[in-house]
Amino acid sequence: LLALEGATVRFGGRAVLDAVDLEVAEHEIVCVLGPSGSGKSTLLRAVAGLQPLDSGRVALDGRDQVGVPAHRRGVGLMFQDHQLFPQRDVGGNVAFGLRMHGASKRQQADRVQELLDLVGLPGASRRAVAALSGGEQQRVALARALAPSPRLLMLDEPLGQLDRSLRERLVVELKELFGRLGTTVLAVTHDQGEAFALADRVVVMRDGRIAQSGTPLQVWQRPADAFVARFLGFEN
Ligand code: ATP
Ligand code: MG
Repeated sequence: LLALEGATVRFGGRAVLDAVDLEVAEHEIVCVLGPSGSGKSTLLRAVAGLQPLDSGRVALDGRDQVGVPAHRRGVGLMFQDHQLFPQRDVGGNVAFGLRMHGASKRQQADRVQELLDLVGLPGASRRAVAALSGGEQQRVALARALAPSPRLLMLDEPLGQLDRSLRERLVVELKELFGRLGTTVLAVTHDQGEAFALADRVVVMRDGRIAQSGTPLQVWQRPADAFVARFLGFEN
């Protein structure tokens, strides 16, 4: 579904994404792990079309995406800080991506209801975003990202602001949800437990490069190098 080849992004001469090759198959759930500043968000933004590449290519379904604007790529992105619109109610936030796709009012309302049921917030459409808990806001952001049925859903620290017990519960719910919808997912997290619970495959980044890619078990049992081992918390 997704293929990156030699994807490179530079800021001020420094390669923040450094010739990254990555493929994500249909229905696969890939979690990107790595320290702060390793280029995880930049990777997602590049795939979404929010960050132009300095070199290399991004292809979706074998089609080169250079020059294709973000809203035409058929990918959904849930931002690290989820960026809900505070002046809109829950329904208005979830419907945002639908309006851009030209759905009618009736279609929008039905779809919003369906999505809120899906993320476990039935009947919340008229509630003010500011009156929701952090976990509820993240569910709204997830519903918004899912609204246009993206072929590829990208999540940047989707559970970042939640406490541990809520994270653990939501990870299980998400895994089940993505399995049911057959969603292809590229998710960033700095939480190994989360990545290992959610992912079919884990990608560990370091300084804009992929240090290792493998199933959670492979990465856990055979870290590729001392960096990955240390990152996973092993003594070397
Ligand atoms: P975190 O875990 O903290 O979210 P990250 O892995 O998502 O980190 P990125 O946001 O991709 O990291 O940033 C990678 C590097 O690129 C950082 O050093 C960051 O300061 C730099 N960077 C990101 N965006 C820009 C920008 N627009 N201009 C200049 N530098 C940037
Ligand atoms: Mg980030």
